[in-house]
Amino acid sequence: MSRATATDLVYLVAIAIGAVIGVPAARLVKMTAMPQMVAIFNGVGGGAAALVSLTEFISLGGKSLAIYRICEILFGVLVGSVSLAGSTIAFAKLQELMTGRPITYPAQQPINAAIGLAIVALLVVTVVTASTTVLVIVLILSLALGAIFVLPIGGADTPVLISLLNAFTGLAVAASGFTLDSTLLIVAGTLVGASGTLLTRMMSQAMGRSLANILFSAFGSVVTATGEGPDASGRSVRAGTADDIGVLLAYARKVAIVPGYGLAVAQAQHTARELADALSARGVEVYYAIHPVAGRMPGHMNVLLAEANVPYDQLEEMDDANQDMATTDVALVVGANDTVNPAAKNTPGSPIYGMPIINADQATNIVFLKRSMRPGFAGIDNELLYDPKTTMLFGDAKDSLSKLVSAVKAA
Ligand code: NDP
Repeated sequence: MSRATATDLVYLVAIAIGAVIGVPAARLVKMTAMPQMVAIFNGVGGGAAALVSLTEFISLGGKSLAIYRICEILFGVLVGSVSLAGSTIAFAKLQELMTGRPITYPAQQPINAAIGLAIVALLVVTVVTASTTVLVIVLILSLALGAIFVLPIGGADTPVLISLLNAFTGLAVAASGFTLDSTLLIVAGTLVGASGTLLTRMMSQAMGRSLANILFSAFGSVVTATGEGPDASGRSVRAGTADDIGVLLAYARKVAIVPGYGLAVAQAQHTARELADALSARGVEVYYAIHPVAGRMPGHMNVLLAEANVPYDQLEEMDDANQDMATTDVALVVGANDTVNPAAKNTPGSPIYGMPIINADQATNIVFLKRSMRPGFAGIDNELLYDPKTTMLFGDAKDSLSKLVSAVKAA
């Protein structure tokens, strides 16, 4: 067997192993677990790019390489390793293999900066000496930097981080493309890098926060809600029955369904549509108010509702929904919390202050479908749960919606 054939065989076996792991994993993953799947696949891509750059450096013989070639390789090793380690920690946080809360320790930023500076110095040494040993040290330090850079980022911000790391992986792959003289890798890597950068920017904007705030503020380290029900200030909560709420909905003129992460967890999109159909059949105007970061990834709610064949003209983006909210009789909040929390408008200092929200508080009546008084992903109290206009229907979103469908039909 010639050498080329043996190498080809190795490639084919590697592709087959990757496909056997990747295809079923991607097909079986739940929508709610999609961010961690993207994280781990992204990390593997970054790691592969770093390894390609390292092996090319060794096999081409570092000393004989032009400086621009060494720079391409260093970029691939650095960015690919940061992406691998960062994505692995992001995966562990989202998969709840470790705490999702920001992990902070004294002098965290100076330590990160020191490691960053050490890497820059070693990159210069590698360019000058073309030493493989120094490059391996760069790789190890880059892995460490990727991990410690991600530790202080809270679970609620992890999807933005994954998008950023995705952009990093794209750039590392493009760098490997230059090293290997592969136009395909250069184009594919640049596409991923550019789209990941744009997505990161759009997600930060939708959360009303700068990227620097997301990356460096350790958002979510302070938990201000316990979810233990009426709190020390004596606020009480009004819980209703499905029958009462069914009547309220059936005799409303206009109802907004505000979906959130809990709808996705409960897989309640089809039942939400059944309820909307039952209401429409009675002449009630129904629309879905979609927050751009409701759920755990951008467009999460649009995808789920499209899967349930919700008519496109019933979906209202946040700005349109907010214009309609003051004339809406009932805002039915299904498993959403942070994305309707008025603290984002009213409480300077709240971690979500400045995030645009769906103004469910402006509707005449508010109904929350959730299982308990526990907070949303940001871990903060939601005063809307205690609003005199609010009625809670406790339970799994799908069960509660089924009960509401029956109640509306019976009303
Ligand atoms: P939240 O995480 O704020 O709240 C979800 C609520 O759903 C919880 O309060 C929970 O309450 C309830 N819930 C969970 N399971 C069920 C169930 N089976 N049945 C009924 N209710 C359930 O969700 P939002 O969608 O409002 O907000 C999304 C959050 O994610 C925001 O903080 C956003 O910034 C963040 N984020 C989103 C990104 C994106 O791209 N989409 C990106 C980055 C961050 P209980 O436990 O009481 O049932």
